[in-house]
Amino acid sequence: MTTVMVTGGAGYIGSHAVLALRAAGFDVVVYDNLSRGFADALTGEAFRGVPLVQADVGDRKTVQETVRRYGVQAVMHFAALAQVAESVAQPALYFRNNTVQGLELVEALLDSGVNLFIFSSTAAVYGEPAVVPIPEDHPTRPTNPYGMSKLSFEFVLESLARARGLRYVSLRYFNVAGADPQGRAGERHDPETHLIPRVLRAAAGDQPVEIFGTDYPTPDGTCIRDYIHVTDLIDAHLLALRALLTSTEAFTRVYNLGSEKGYSVREIVAAAEKVVGKPLTIRELPRRPGDPAMLVASSARIRQELGWQPRLGLDAILATAWAWEKRRPGAARRTRDAES
Ligand code: UDP
Repeated sequence: MTTVMVTGGAGYIGSHAVLALRAAGFDVVVYDNLSRGFADALTGEAFRGVPLVQADVGDRKTVQETVRRYGVQAVMHFAALAQVAESVAQPALYFRNNTVQGLELVEALLDSGVNLFIFSSTAAVYGEPAVVPIPEDHPTRPTNPYGMSKLSFEFVLESLARARGLRYVSLRYFNVAGADPQGRAGERHDPETHLIPRVLRAAAGDQPVEIFGTDYPTPDGTCIRDYIHVTDLIDAHLLALRALLTSTEAFTRVYNLGSEKGYSVREIVAAAEKVVGKPLTIRELPRRPGDPAMLVASSARIRQELGWQPRLGLDAILATAWAWEKRRPGAARRTRDAES
């Protein structure tokens, strides 16, 4: 049985990875400092018996103890800070967490004999796109410290692959949304900045939906993004893990993960109205600084090389996210807060 360490396993995407890894027969150990994740995300039958090591990824001693104690053979590294505005205000925090601590983690793993690594990267490494859909060989010119900290870590991985035989897959996520179709996990950020959960929270609390910018050079004036269901995203991680486990030589890959379809903010709001079954009030606000008009992935590379195929479209994203929103821990409290 292969044991996989999931950093950030108490967070949104990491908790879905834990479920999928267990369903596929892997042993899992979660490694999370709970700074942004929630210990109670790992309660419930589906998570029974999954150990949680509460520590920073930069804590080499604890990383190495965890590898020894659980016999870790591969790592999925989700733990990171991921808010663009916060990264602009506190860049050092982002480089320290996402790049420097990440480096400590990978070195500690290599020193312990673990050389299989899957990294949660981001479309933010591209910055303002020169062409859409965006292929992996598009220039990387991140426009904020969040994207820079993730791109810097990709350089760390590339260099350690050459110098020390690290085998890795870096997955550049576009807009991840939706929840576990069985309702065992879902999105839960505090504060929540992402469009889909914000629209659904607004719907649940009878609050207006805020649209940031209606004067973009797009057909309806609002930003276009590529939304990918978290279940499809995690499928790609499982394919990457299998590729790493069966590779016999140097293996370094960078893949985009997106659906290759773009939806505008207004289209998302219209689709959400259908799912929640009522019209939503819209508040049009100025642009949010740093938002590119349009981000859509080309995921041709991972489709061709690993046979990945996203299956769940926008309706499934919204339906699973809405089912989760209605039962999410803290949902009632937040709704009351929103009303006060
Ligand atoms: N957005 C919006 N209202 C919100 C949250 C987001 O209009 O309440 C817009 C945001 O400006 C961007 C798009 O929705 O154009 C997606 O934003 P999100 O934060 O979900 O993802 P990002 O693409 O920034 O990673």
